[in-house]
Amino acid sequence: MRIKWDEIPADGLFFSIDDDSWVPGHEVVCQGPGVCTVSLRKEGGRILLAGTMRLLVVLECDRCLESFAHTLAEEFEVVFELLAKEEKAGLASEYFCKGSDLDVVYLAEPVVDVFSVLAQQVYLGLPAKRLCSDKCQGLCSECGANLSRCPCDCARGAGASPFNVLAKLKNQ
Ligand SMILES: [Zn+2]
Ligand SMILES: [Zn+2]
Repeated sequence: MRIKWDEIPADGLFFSIDDDSWVPGHEVVCQGPGVCTVSLRKEGGRILLAGTMRLLVVLECDRCLESFAHTLAEEFEVVFELLAKEEKAGLASEYFCKGSDLDVVYLAEPVVDVFSVLAQQVYLGLPAKRLCSDKCQGLCSECGANLSRCPCDCARGAGASPFNVLAKLKNQ
């Protein structure tokens, strides 16, 4: 969804998206459609984009490797500015960030790609540490059992060590 700056009225442009057309499907698996609201406003020579997003994504637990559902709920603001003509010359891509303010996106053309902003917010919103539960105990390093579901006997010191196997044989 590309919106030209001159299509944005003086009192702003507001809309919501309630399908998954904007979801970067090759990067995330989601359950059901997402819901986004977006507002675009002109301010001086800049465009302010403010938005919210809600999306149920399916992630894989870092510890037990099981899938679990996680709700992304993000609020964000992005400022768009046009590059000066002389800066366009050395520009390789559409987006060009400079300085330390990451929320400012510099554009070569006065067009805002709303879906790419939303996709970026999905990446930013994904948790760095993915756990199905704080209490997830992960997999047993000996037998691979999911310890949260069905605890195994490995941790009790039996079985894994060859000495224990010998001891068992001796006792039989
Ligand atoms: Zn887990
Ligand atoms: Zn085990």
